[in-house]
Amino acid sequence: MKSLMKAKSEPGIWMADSLKPDIGPNDVLIRIKKSAICGTDLHIYKWDQWAQKTIPVPMVVGHEYVGVIEKVGSEVKHLKQGQRVSGEGHIVCGHCRNCRAGKRHLCPNTLGVGVNRPGSFAEFLSIPADNVFPIPDDIDDELAAIFDPFGNAVHTALSFDLVGEDVLITGAGPIGCMAVPICKHAGARHVVITDVNPYRLQLAEKMGATRAVNVANEKLSDVMANLGMKEGFDVGLEMSGVESAFQQMIGNMMNGGKIALLGIPPGGKMDIDWNQVIFKGLIIKGIYGREMYETWYKMVSMLQSGLNIRDVITHRLPIDQYIDGFEAMKSGQCGKVILNWD
Ligand code: NAD
Ligand code: ZN
Repeated sequence: MKSLMKAKSEPGIWMADSLKPDIGPNDVLIRIKKSAICGTDLHIYKWDQWAQKTIPVPMVVGHEYVGVIEKVGSEVKHLKQGQRVSGEGHIVCGHCRNCRAGKRHLCPNTLGVGVNRPGSFAEFLSIPADNVFPIPDDIDDELAAIFDPFGNAVHTALSFDLVGEDVLITGAGPIGCMAVPICKHAGARHVVITDVNPYRLQLAEKMGATRAVNVANEKLSDVMANLGMKEGFDVGLEMSGVESAFQQMIGNMMNGGKIALLGIPPGGKMDIDWNQVIFKGLIIKGIYGREMYETWYKMVSMLQSGLNIRDVITHRLPIDQYIDGFEAMKSGQCGKVILNWD
């Protein structure tokens, strides 16, 4: 089958022939229709330090997709051939304490599709039936293809009560941009988003941000004063992984404010003023992936009740033009990039 392969330990990704995956009795084989490119795939494309120490080569990468079930394993009774599906990219162990307590997103034995095992930039993907998520008919393929990052945004945004709250989102990447309408849909008052990339700030504005602030040349405090915000933000969603953005968030939260941290700082370290966290009584929650499968149900029901995230999709390309897609991601002049296998 055709697949996008990390074939060599150097920057790049290559279209290659690979073996159609086998399925076990509890697995499902999915024929991929559309793939989306994740920031993780970009790290693998650029072959940065994280990718070099994490990704075994050769490896079929990718984990954002929609497809149709081609075949189900002999023990799989609740899914059938022809069903339109996406899937959770975190494969959990099922037997640790958190898995047994129904908190599968906190499984310490999680494996990533397209990171630790073959991924979805391919004509076919095999995953455990438990990870398959059927897509209702009223949700189209391109939205279904971005359920994975949409789920990151939903999981982060719904960490805390948003009704009537003022929210600060740092980082207007695709996930930050999707978080804007999610917060609005869930009842937030002001949703202010920051970035240093004008293209992405414009996208965030189009997606409904109260203010999209370029922190390279605008003061967040001026924007807050302009909105009549005296005490700071109630909720912060850190979606950049940038130390100065997180520091700015901490500095502009109200006392008792709540922060959900999704952004991953390169190297894992951030130098922040812990005194502010302590004396302001801030609550900080780390976010990994999506809740299985509560986040997935909320994604569907929010879309069905009028949430609009469509504008985050800025590029649609045939799979053979995947290099253009990766280069668009690399440039930062994009939201989500979708690659079509049809
Ligand atoms: P992205 O890299 O496309 O977006 C990050 C944005 O932050 C960029 O637009 C960048 O211009 C912006 N930025 C840079 N400096 C800034 C500053 N000083 N202030 C505000 N913004 C600034 O990433 P994405 O795909 O939207 O993902 C968002 C973050 O979440 C990334 O750090 C990613 O690694 C992380 N992530 C975490 C998980 C998880 O499970 N925890 C899952 C997916 C992504
Ligand atoms: Zn587990």
